Amino acid sequence: MIANKRKQKETITICRPAEQFYGTSGLNSPFVSTLEGIYPAIIRGSLLTSSDSKMFDFNQVCVVLVNTSHPGNIGATARAMKNMGLSKLTLVAPADFPSGVAVGRAVSAVDILDNARVVSSLQEAVEGCGLVIGASARSRNIPWPMVSPEQCGQKAVTEAAVNKVALVFGREDAGLNNEELQLCHFHVQIPADPNYSSLNLSAAVMVVCYEVRKAALALDEKPAIAEDEIWDQEKANGEQVEHFYVHLERVMTAIKFHDPENPRQLMPRMRRLFSRIRIDVMEMNILRGILSNIEFRLDNEKKLKAELEEGEKAKEPKS
Ligand code: SAH
Repeated sequence: MIANKRKQKETITICRPAEQFYGTSGLNSPFVSTLEGIYPAIIRGSLLTSSDSKMFDFNQVCVVLVNTSHPGNIGATARAMKNMGLSKLTLVAPADFPSGVAVGRAVSAVDILDNARVVSSLQEAVEGCGLVIGASARSRNIPWPMVSPEQCGQKAVTEAAVNKVALVFGREDAGLNNEELQLCHFHVQIPADPNYSSLNLSAAVMVVCYEVRKAALALDEKPAIAEDEIWDQEKANGEQVEHFYVHLERVMTAIKFHDPENPRQLMPRMRRLFSRIRIDVMEMNILRGILSNIEFRLDNEKKLKAELEEGEKAKEPKS
C-alpha cells in the first residue's frame, strides 16, 4: 500500500513537466488527470520516456559554442543537449567558464559541462570533423549553402555514420562572423518570425539538436543508405581541405589571378564552392596534383628565363 502510494507520487512528479508542455485537454491526450489513467498513458505512449536510437552514435555529433558570454546559456545548452541525447560539447573561448551559474542551469546535465572541451579557436574546435554546420539567424552578403533545421538533422545523422560532425552556434550579441561561417559547410537557419528571428542561444541549440534526434530515431524505422556507404572514396576531412585552400591561394597568387593585397571575396567564394560539393580524398588529390604541376611549370619557366638571361648576359661584349 505504502509502496503503491510512493509509486503514484513519483508518477505524478514525472508527468508534471510533460503536462505543462502538451497540456491535458483533448480527447486523445495521453495525460489524463485520474491516477488510473496515468499508468496506461505511460505504458502506451513513448512521450514520457522517449526511445533511444539503436542505429546512431550520438557521440559522433558535437555542439560548439563560440565565445559565449553568459554561463547560464552554456548550462542551458548542456541541458538541451542531454534532453536530445547528445553529450559532446566544445566551448571556444567562453567568457565565463567553469561557472556555478552554468551548473545551476544544466540541472542534470552537469556531466556534459564536466566533460566539455575548451579551445581557443573555432578551427581547433572543428578539426577532424567531416561535416560542420553553422547556425545563424542572419543571411549574408555571400549566401552560404543553406539548410533547414530538418535537413541539418538529416545531414548530420548521415555524415555521423562515417565522420565526426560539428554543430556551431555563435555569440549571444553578434552571432557568428563571416569568417566563422565560412569554416562551415552549411548554414542552418531556423525559420523564426522575421520580425524577431534571433532565438536565445540554448533555444537554438535545442531546435537543431531535436532535429538531429528526430533523424537519428528515424534510422531505426527505415535505415537510410548514407551517401558515404555507397561512395568509393572517403570524404576529405577539414584539415585536408584547409591545406588545399592554402595551396590554391598560393597558386592563384603565383599566376597573378589573385591579389592578396586586394583579395575581394575570391577565397570565401572558393570555400563556398568546395563546401557545396563535399569533395572526396581522391578528388582533392587530383586538384592538389594539378596545383603542384602548375607550380612545377612556373618554377621551370622561371629557371629557364633566368638561364636565358644568364646566356644573354654572357653573350654581351665585356667592356
Ligand atoms: N544577434 C545575433 C544572434 C545571436 S543568437 C546575430 O545577429 O547573429 C545566438 C546564436 O543562436 C546565434 O549565433 C545562432 O548560432 C543561434 N541562433 C539564434 N537564432 C537563430 C536562428 N533563427 N537560426 C539559426 N540559429 C540561430
